[in-house]
Amino acid sequence: MDIIVIEDLWKVYKNGIEALRGISLRVREGEVFSFLGPNGAGKTTTIKILSCILKPTKGKVTVAGYEVPKDCKKIREIVSVVPQEFQGFSDLTVRENIQYFAKLYKVNNVDDVIEELGLKEHQNKKFGELSGGLKRRVAIACGIIGNPKLIYLDEPTVGLDPKSRRSIWEIVKSLKDKGITVFLATHYLDEAEKLSDRVAVIYKGKIVKLSTPSELVDEFKKENLEEAYLELM
Ligand code: ATP
Repeated sequence: MDIIVIEDLWKVYKNGIEALRGISLRVREGEVFSFLGPNGAGKTTTIKILSCILKPTKGKVTVAGYEVPKDCKKIREIVSVVPQEFQGFSDLTVRENIQYFAKLYKVNNVDDVIEELGLKEHQNKKFGELSGGLKRRVAIACGIIGNPKLIYLDEPTVGLDPKSRRSIWEIVKSLKDKGITVFLATHYLDEAEKLSDRVAVIYKGKIVKLSTPSELVDEFKKENLEEAYLELM
């Protein structure tokens, strides 16, 4: 089943910028789908529409069969967004931050998520004092505490050191193993290659390629596109 269906989606901001210019794609339930593209390509705009933060200018978008923006109340119950800049409460501990989100979803048990995200030994540290990698892990913990069917991760490893990146990759794999569909916005080709079942490449508001990661990497190599692609970053 396709959990996300996007057909000819356009988003034109008030200043006239065409952030999305007729994109179409389908995401299957249970897969990790990467949305790969350089800064300004339209990734965050797409996530904001899929999670009902923004309205489309034109086009059809459904999430789990529910229509955006008509059925947004239903959609918000089953999706979760981990934004690029997660704003945790700096003066609260890791545990208290997760408890705050747990309360919103009327969930009592935070221990399992803390364990799952490898945060047990960090749970009493203040959020504001954590490293970038740990902050991202807390952000994902807050994102999954409400048991979403579908999660949007917006550039989850940007600015992280290699070890922290790998730990986030392991977490993404575990989300998939739990049956959560992952929509991963990234500008790292290696990340898309390692984690995803399928990849869409977005550039200047248009989808320029839709394939499996191995096909994509082959193509970049064969046509010597890697350098060209990196130049876009
Ligand atoms: P990044 O990783 O830098 O956030 P992105 O691929 O997520 O890149 P978007 O943030 O979706 O890209 O931006 C797409 C285009 O829309 C860019 O040209 C951006 O400047 C523009 N844009 C984004 N938000 C707004 C806004 N609120 N008003 C006007 N233009 C915007």
